[in-house]
Order: sequence, then structure tokens, then C-alpha cells
Amino acid sequence: MTSNADTVGDTRDRDVEPSGPVRICMYNVGFGDCFLLTFPYSEADGGDRHVVIDFGSTKHPKGATRNWTKRIAEDIQRKCDGELDAIVMTHRHQDHLRGFAGTAGKIIASLKPKLIMQPWTEHPMAPPDAQTPPENQREALHYHGLRAAQDFVMATLENLERLVHRSPKQKAVASDVGTYGQENLPNEEAIKNLETMGADGKAEYVHYGFRTRLEDILPGVSVKVLGPPTLEQADEIRGQRQTDPEYWHLYAAIGQTLRSAKARHSLFDAPQVSLEDAPHHARWVMEQMDLVSLEQLRAIVRILDAYLNNTSVILLFEANRRSFLFPGDAQIENWEYAMRQPGNKALLSKVGVYKVGHHGSLNGTPKTLWRWFDNRSRGQREGRLVTLMSTREGKHGHSDRGTEVPRKKLVDELTQNSKYITTEEYSEGVLCQDFRF
Ligand SMILES: [Zn+2]
Repeated sequence: MTSNADTVGDTRDRDVEPSGPVRICMYNVGFGDCFLLTFPYSEADGGDRHVVIDFGSTKHPKGATRNWTKRIAEDIQRKCDGELDAIVMTHRHQDHLRGFAGTAGKIIASLKPKLIMQPWTEHPMAPPDAQTPPENQREALHYHGLRAAQDFVMATLENLERLVHRSPKQKAVASDVGTYGQENLPNEEAIKNLETMGADGKAEYVHYGFRTRLEDILPGVSVKVLGPPTLEQADEIRGQRQTDPEYWHLYAAIGQTLRSAKARHSLFDAPQVSLEDAPHHARWVMEQMDLVSLEQLRAIVRILDAYLNNTSVILLFEANRRSFLFPGDAQIENWEYAMRQPGNKALLSKVGVYKVGHHGSLNGTPKTLWRWFDNRSRGQREGRLVTLMSTREGKHGHSDRGTEVPRKKLVDELTQNSKYITTEEYSEGVLCQDFRF
């Protein structure tokens, strides 16, 4: 897509392309993601284009001032001069979308983005009480199952306090349920805001291989959607995973019941007999049973968590002969389809800038994918792989179980074999840093 010498000075037949380095602003949201990509174009070619990829957080960075989220939105507003070209919401997790609600969300909406990209799993399907069958039964089932699972998590969180958890083990499990549950809460306001911004044909619900209009917005830039696969595309891996989408069918009925407030309060009845009043010999059994129910809740919220991560949009941009990979929080089940398709290994081997998947968690960067990146190198050299990580230590996982986020083993690898940049190394109070490629 480069202009040849004959056409210099003649814009009629010239291929339009970015006029300089791509700028990536990595915001310090704490635990979450928010990136502003700026593709520079000359005035004659319509000026710079700005794309926001995710805007959310579940724990602000150390030293964050009040109105941190609003300040980020204002910074985006300033940097894009009041006009945003596109928003990509990789998946429906609080740490990727919370900023699209509230005052910050209003500021973003005022920037009138021309395109709102979300995964196909967010496509508003027929309502649950629809009389006619939706166009695609399986996808509708999938969509409603997802919503039902989120209702279930909401009810779980509302009732968590009422569940007994006295022993350190019970407390630890309850805290996990709280952490994962919170991340998975449905954020109606943010979703509604994205839906409104996407009205009049501005919304795109994408899947692997989708031809996105982002390529028209960014002339001379290649944009490939590498995930998530559709159910049809992913069929070959179904049945091997506990996150099989059909699973949520089990919860669809529960979810509908939960929508009534009355039912919500009767879901987890407080124990009729308190531990103190129970006969001594029964206490151990009661404690074990409480632990079992807490562990089951934890299993449910974690399955939903993994499932939502696997709905992440995976984008590969190519501009200025450099590839930029933004995989959201995609885990192996999402990656697997793209990694099996012919030609993708060659494409991915050229990645020059990698937004580290899933905040550096142990399941966010498939090892095979990492080994495919040809630009990894121990020492500094031209074109060395750059890795960008937005995270906050201590929010998820435990180092004694090897589940801490970011995972130390991965961070060691990133530090040794790439130019590794993490929001955790920003000075306190720094909103964002800009990088040019
Ligand atoms: Zn995340």
C-alpha cells in the first residue's frame, strides 16, 4: 500500500496511508484495560483517526486521585480533539467496560464514535419471551444463557454476606466469589450506552474472519479479526471444554426466576440454625457443608469468568509494516480456532507490539503463540518485540498456587525476551504513557 514515485504529488490515484508513527496511549486504569490508538493522516486525507480499545477497571492504581475514570475520559476527549472514530469493547467484563458508564461514559458518547465494535456474543437477540423463533436458535440460546448467568452472579453477590463464612478457608473462598463475581456483574448502563452509540448502523458484532469497517476508517491499515470464533467455527473444539456454551442452558431458567426481586431474596436462605446454637457434634458437618456451597458458587463464577474472557475480540492491526496484536482477555479456547487456520502462524509471527492478554494471567498468552513471535529477542535490536501490559498486582490469584496475576513466570519471559512495559511501573498519579511505533 505504498505510493510509488510516479504518483507523488498526485493525490487522485495515491493510496492513502498513515503519515507517521502509530501512537498508542496505555492508560493506567489499575486492574483493567484502556488503550487509545492514534493513526496519523495528513489534513488532505482527513486528519488523524482515533480508536479506543476497552475502558474499564475493577481496582484503581495506587495514588489514583478522585474522578480518575472521568479524568481518563477527558484525556481521551482532548487527545482526539472531540471526535472519536471507533470504540472496540473486547468483552463484557467490568475491567473492560466500566468506563463506558457514568460521567466518563457520557464524555465518551459526546465524542460521537463512528463505529462500535463488540463480539458477536453481545448481539441483542430476540427477547426471552419472544413468540417466534429467533433467526439462529443456538446463538439466541447462547446470548440468553449468558445474561442468565450474569443474573445468577448478581444474586450470588447480593446474598454473599448472608452465607456463613467463619473459618479462614471459608473466608478465602467467599473472597474469591466476591472478586470474580464483581468482575462478571452485568453493567447495564455501560452496555446501554454502547448500544445507543452504536445505533443507526454504527454497531458491529464481530467474529473470526469478519470484514470490519475499521479498515475503511483506517485507510492503508490492515485490520484482521482473529476471534472470537462463532459456535459453528468453534464446533470442532466443543465437548472438550467445561466452558461449553450449552452449559449455560442449565442456568437460563434460574436466571429468569432471578429477575423478580422476590425470588432473588429466597435463592439463598439464611441458615435456620446458627452454628452457635447447633449441638457440638454437628458443627463440623455444618461448616463443611457451608464450605461446599461456597466452593460451588466459586466454581460457577469462575466458569462464567473464563467463558466471558473467551468471547474477547482479538484484533491484529498492520500499519507502517508493523503488526499490533490486541487480544483482550482471550484464553486458549478462543485462540485455538485462529491458531489452527492456515496462514495465521505466518501473520502472527510478525507481531511487533503485543498487548499482553488477560493482564498477564497464566492462561492469557498461549505458549505456542508466544513461541511464534519471531521478534522476541534477548538483547535490544531493531524491531524487537514490544509487550504492553495493563494490570495491577494483588487483585487476582495467589502466588502459592501459581495463579497470581501477573504471573511471575510470564513476566520473567516478557522481561527477558521483549521490551516489556507495564502500567505498574508508571509513577504514582500518572494517567497514561504514549508510545510511538
Ligand atoms: Zn480483563
